[in-house]
Amino acid sequence: MTHETLDTALAEAWIRAAAAAVGRAEEQLTALDAAIGDGDHGSNLRRGFTAVLAALDDAGPDGSAGFDSAGALLRTVGSTLLAKVGGASGPLYGQAFRVAGAELPPDAGPAACADALAAGLAAVRALGGAEPGDKTMVDALTPAVDALRTAAAAGAALAGATAAAADAAEQGARATTPLQARRGRASYLGSRSVGHQDPGATSAALIVRALADAAAR
Ligand code: ADP
Ligand code: MG
Repeated sequence: MTHETLDTALAEAWIRAAAAAVGRAEEQLTALDAAIGDGDHGSNLRRGFTAVLAALDDAGPDGSAGFDSAGALLRTVGSTLLAKVGGASGPLYGQAFRVAGAELPPDAGPAACADALAAGLAAVRALGGAEPGDKTMVDALTPAVDALRTAAAAGAALAGATAAAADAAEQGARATTPLQARRGRASYLGSRSVGHQDPGATSAALIVRALADAAAR
């Protein structure tokens, strides 16, 4: 049975899947960040999502039932990441989840999910100033939003639309490899940032894939 809408239970399943994916990828994300940054991206996100899981558990014995809506749950995810993750990625992901959660209506279908993700992406861009092509998480999130919108407009169900978004995010993350970084720590390396996949684009693709996996279950 797949999910037709992003309800509270799917939001919880998404975030738990994202936390697990970040945990499994910690070493990979750290290695990518060691190449063009300071090697803390994996540990930053692991710490953040560990705190997020604790916040979900604190909401009550029934998990997602402790939240009024998927949006409320995602706002809590965002505030927790803002509070617990240092570095550039914590405030950026934290703000993205807060704004997406504020934008998300109850039981959102693919089009409303695309609008919420677009609002989260706009928040990342407003806070960090990155444009597409600057070799950041924006390069995974932008194609994900576009693919989700296109799939929604074509009438795709949530599982298929989010899978298309995840495919686009992974392709966007891979496409950061030849780029030169223009934002964040990697930009200090100038042309030496070329030839490495961006850690934040990589984690953004993992988080979008976690949504698709949860929606398909
Ligand atoms: P820090 O760079 O402070 O050590 P992290 O290592 O946790 O933080 O995260 C690095 C990632 O954050 C980068 O790979 C990039 O994707 C993302 N990032 C950094 N600066 C920006 C920015 N201004 N806008 C968007 N994303 C950014
Ligand atoms: Mg870092």
